[in-house]
Amino acid sequence: MKSLNNVIEECKTLAFDLKFTRAREWKAEDENRVIIGYMPIYIPREIIHAANGLAVGILGVGDRKQVIKGDAFYQSYICRIPRGIIELALDNHFKDFDGFIFPSICDVIRNLSGMFQLLKVGTFINYLDFPQNFQSEIGGSFYQNEMYYILNEIKKINGVEVSTDQLNNSIKLYNKNRKLIEKIYNTRQNFPWRLSAEEFYYIIRAGMVMPVEEHNNILEEVVEYISMENGEPMDKIKVMVIGSFCEQPPVGLIKTIEMAGCYIVEDDFTLGSRWIQGDIEDDTDNPLNALSDAFLKRSTFSSSIYDIENPKEKRLLELAKNRNVDGIIFAAPSFCDPALLDLPVYQKTCDEKNIRYISFQYSENTGQFKNIKEQVGAFSDSIKLWSEELVGG
Ligand code: SF4
Repeated sequence: MKSLNNVIEECKTLAFDLKFTRAREWKAEDENRVIIGYMPIYIPREIIHAANGLAVGILGVGDRKQVIKGDAFYQSYICRIPRGIIELALDNHFKDFDGFIFPSICDVIRNLSGMFQLLKVGTFINYLDFPQNFQSEIGGSFYQNEMYYILNEIKKINGVEVSTDQLNNSIKLYNKNRKLIEKIYNTRQNFPWRLSAEEFYYIIRAGMVMPVEEHNNILEEVVEYISMENGEPMDKIKVMVIGSFCEQPPVGLIKTIEMAGCYIVEDDFTLGSRWIQGDIEDDTDNPLNALSDAFLKRSTFSSSIYDIENPKEKRLLELAKNRNVDGIIFAAPSFCDPALLDLPVYQKTCDEKNIRYISFQYSENTGQFKNIKEQVGAFSDSIKLWSEELVGG
């Protein structure tokens, strides 16, 4: 068994590998395998897995690649993630990818899918529209058609006709993946010093670029490690970080928050890995129905979904309460319309419920954290010194 440090180092390398080495190695082992890239936040990875594919999350370039050509594709007043992704495409980082899925989260991602079409990257480009109607017979059947479309595109490439058993098996594997991730979140809620938010981030993010079977093995090891005591608790407040679901915060930002007196015990980084809450039915005659049903009824809340029956500000409060956090940090990418449009609604709710919060913006390649460190440090100190009540008290 490897040490936890080795596991974390391995995950760190994989998570930030802009050559997608592990995915390409995996594909090279079998000529019928396909790599399907996807943009944040969520896609039903189970169907790709069942079709002999590997769904690879493309989360931007951070500060690991200079973006020059990508800037020429976009106006200056939008977020940074699409520019880096275009740069990757133009520099041929996706040469072994077969297709791409762009979930419908905002206009920027929609435009990015159009650019991939114009640049002719991959064999198929799918702009995946999610249902905004939550009735099974309307939104559900629409979503199932979208999934059929993707399966059909993959079949055109590798000839794989997906069976019910294969789909059920893939759902099982991802159920296990989500369960293990949740277990780590639950352990960290009470013992956050056993695994830092930075280390956890590497572990989760690596799962978006490697086969789920391998990631499950890693998660099992991590669960075992953190079930035992290690490290020392420090005098820090517990926070959740919200708004970072698409363009990822730089790792330096995650580190800064924890170094400035906070334990991050909940967040929406790499939210797609834990999008569905709880298990999806995995022994059914109609797995696509099970997947769409889970999407409609058990999706987490997000700025990319408008569910009037289940307001996201109410769900934010529930989550804060369940995680027993002392405060919320709203950290969104600059120019991210979905996150920034939700912010006033969230903040109003926090004000009404006397929940402490701060907010700031970042870019995936932000390199200076001095101001953020001061802001977070003051937030943490003020809660430690003057707060007698927990969230919602
Ligand atoms: S960071 Fe926000 S605006 Fe940019 S692509 Fe993602 S969701 Fe869209």
